[in-house]
Amino acid sequence: MNPTLEANYFDGRTARAQRARVSVVGGELRIEFTGGERRVPLVDVQWPERQRHSPRIAHFAARAGGGSLHGDDTLSWDAFVRGLPAAARAREGWVVRVQQSWRGTLVAAALLVAVGVGGYLWGVPLAARGVLAVTPLEADAAVGRLALEGVEGRWLQPSKVAPADRERLAAAFARLVEAAFPDPRTRPAYALRFHASRIGPNAFALPGGTIVVTDELLQLTEGRDDVVLGVLAHELGHVRARHGMRMLVQVSLIGAATSVALGDFSSVLAGVPALLGQMAYSRDAEREADAESVRLLRAAGLSPAVMVEFFERARAWRQSPAGRKHGADADLGIAFSSHPADAERIAYFRDAAR
Ligand SMILES: [Zn+2]
Repeated sequence: MNPTLEANYFDGRTARAQRARVSVVGGELRIEFTGGERRVPLVDVQWPERQRHSPRIAHFAARAGGGSLHGDDTLSWDAFVRGLPAAARAREGWVVRVQQSWRGTLVAAALLVAVGVGGYLWGVPLAARGVLAVTPLEADAAVGRLALEGVEGRWLQPSKVAPADRERLAAAFARLVEAAFPDPRTRPAYALRFHASRIGPNAFALPGGTIVVTDELLQLTEGRDDVVLGVLAHELGHVRARHGMRMLVQVSLIGAATSVALGDFSSVLAGVPALLGQMAYSRDAEREADAESVRLLRAAGLSPAVMVEFFERARAWRQSPAGRKHGADADLGIAFSSHPADAERIAYFRDAAR
């Protein structure tokens, strides 16, 4: 007997639900509804992960024409899915999961934008803040993984720094984070990665907590671990305040609102690595991360003067032959030393060191 399922069918073009009878015919999902029938190859159907309280929604890939099925009877839905060929039930990729968790979020964003929080300039940052508040942290992690893949190919190579040096630095940073956040429940999650790079002596953080340190930064600091720790503490500040995510939400918001209407999120996600490459954090975000750096350094008994030391070394590097050769195309927008520090920032750390 060929099992069937009753579900609501959305064609992906209109917001109208149609009652449909669903069955599997020769590697395809057959969806019969009043006035028509549609076939979608099983490989193009993304089933939701089975969780007790998650809504039962299956999405059809854009290449199959988009659309979705919504189940209201979870028991028969689950039974139907269990009866599918194993390959067709394969756990969906994380992109889909992000898209789904973002769906509600982005709808909220679209609404916020639609009701018009006022002018573009102050409306969008406000809306971005609201969106971020309801975006689960898992979305940051997934976006961070995507960003790392994009960044790795273009800017990073395997580290050539001796493992002992990397371990020493990682341990020192772990101690600093522990000192600043004695309560493990409030301690921000991060993952330190070391890479040779073409972005010079640098470090950057990705949504979700991955912090990348370049070999060139370790060369520049010549064993001054305290200087590297100051830079890493700044990056952890970006992670904790979700600055990368906020920036992405902010720049994607207008486009995302349109995408929600069209039911297509892949275009938003596809732009993530490029956006992180081109964009720089706002001045306010940098100030916030600098303040975090000062706080963490102090908690670990280190002087904020290490940051002044870094800026001086970075300036010397920029004027060296290697620094001169370093083209603007090799800059990563979100990275620490891609933008020379201004006098105000240097003065901030100098004052904090007093
Ligand atoms: Zn920064």
